[in-house]
Amino acid sequence: MNKWHEALEIIFSNLQPIEAAKMPIDDALSLVASEDALSPENLPAFDNSAMDGFAVRFSDCAGATEDSPVSLRVLEDLPAGRVAAQAVSAGAALRIMTGAVIPMGCDVVVPVEDTRPATDADEYVYILRTPKLKGNIRAAGEDIVAGQTVISEGQQVSAAHIGLMAALGISELLVIPPVKAAVITTGSELADVLEKPVAGKIRDANIHSLSAQIRSWGAVPIAFPRIADTRQAVESALEEAASLCDLLITTGGVSVGDYDYVKEVLNALGAKQHFWRVAQKPGGPFGFWTLWGKPFFGIPGNPVSAIVMAELYLKPAIYRMMGRKNVNYQRVAARLESGFRKTGADGKRHFLRVIADEREGKWTARLSGPQGSAQLASMRAANALAMIPEDTLEVPAGGEVELLLIKTNRASTYQWPNSPP
Ligand code: AMP
Ligand code: MG
Repeated sequence: MNKWHEALEIIFSNLQPIEAAKMPIDDALSLVASEDALSPENLPAFDNSAMDGFAVRFSDCAGATEDSPVSLRVLEDLPAGRVAAQAVSAGAALRIMTGAVIPMGCDVVVPVEDTRPATDADEYVYILRTPKLKGNIRAAGEDIVAGQTVISEGQQVSAAHIGLMAALGISELLVIPPVKAAVITTGSELADVLEKPVAGKIRDANIHSLSAQIRSWGAVPIAFPRIADTRQAVESALEEAASLCDLLITTGGVSVGDYDYVKEVLNALGAKQHFWRVAQKPGGPFGFWTLWGKPFFGIPGNPVSAIVMAELYLKPAIYRMMGRKNVNYQRVAARLESGFRKTGADGKRHFLRVIADEREGKWTARLSGPQGSAQLASMRAANALAMIPEDTLEVPAGGEVELLLIKTNRASTYQWPNSPP
């Protein structure tokens, strides 16, 4: 039986990033660039005003103070989007708005705050302070010059990248597109959320929770019609899913029950099994295959197992296929308030649902509720998984555990595989 990090390594070594494609920049957020995009032009494209004020000649304003202001004749108004009809001549000014093109002859913009309108003659303005040469002029190319890199291959597209590309006229980018992940839930007992289940049936929780997780990672879940525990139903669902998706996930039917057909069908279809079973709890009866070149995750059906296994294995796999280098686990050491004791030396890594809390850099964790693998309420309350290693039988109350923070947007503090678990 593989340990957690061994299983992850096997998964990683059987994944490829999916093929890059040109995508509209509006669809590229958080995706990984597959090319270096170079700026086709200067940004800004022309010198323009950084302030609302007056476009003047520096030499006219030298020595201006509140007590001895310089008066200049205002020739025209220059809103953003318009080009001046005339140059700024000696003794003259143009009233200019933020973003307007700097007119010929102007070498400084005096902000409105440093001026006073002349009360006697409308077309005059008083300059009250000596400006700095070139002050308040945004020079062409001061943001980005033509030929400079806007985004490099391997970087994740941010909102700022998107804004910058738009400003530069780059409407599409070569990126690794979102993984299309088939979500196939198995179980003759499963009913739809809209149904009132008849005796013995339960509603299908996994199809919704898994799809939500996949969506939250920036991939695209494709939820297939849930299937009954028959060989034929499993087989036709897998065939269809493999033809449509980049990656396949089943929940349920992968254990040792009499109606667990997933392994058998995969075998019959010629899938390559990389492992089945991981030494962990919850989620142990988990398998990984390649079916016609597509990674296949056989996740056990218990709703907590499904969420935990997806978080531990599917998320880093999907990130890898989408070209990301980092696995976004944040790992911290914490005191486990209640302690924990395994019922026996099972050689398994336990992932406990806990509520983790940080005070002045010190973490504590307490169980978020009962730990049964079908008990979703304690999963809902958890913000971390506390790991009890394979060969640890007991952590005393207040003893140290390692946490995986699962509800966090903090940057990753470790990079797989440089510091293995
Ligand atoms: P299995 O892995 O198929 O043996 O299922 C293990 C347990 O999880 C059984 O109690 C199933 O009824 C339950 N289960 C399986 N699939 C789902 C699902 N999609 N939603 C909720 N419970 C499920
Ligand atoms: Mg089942």
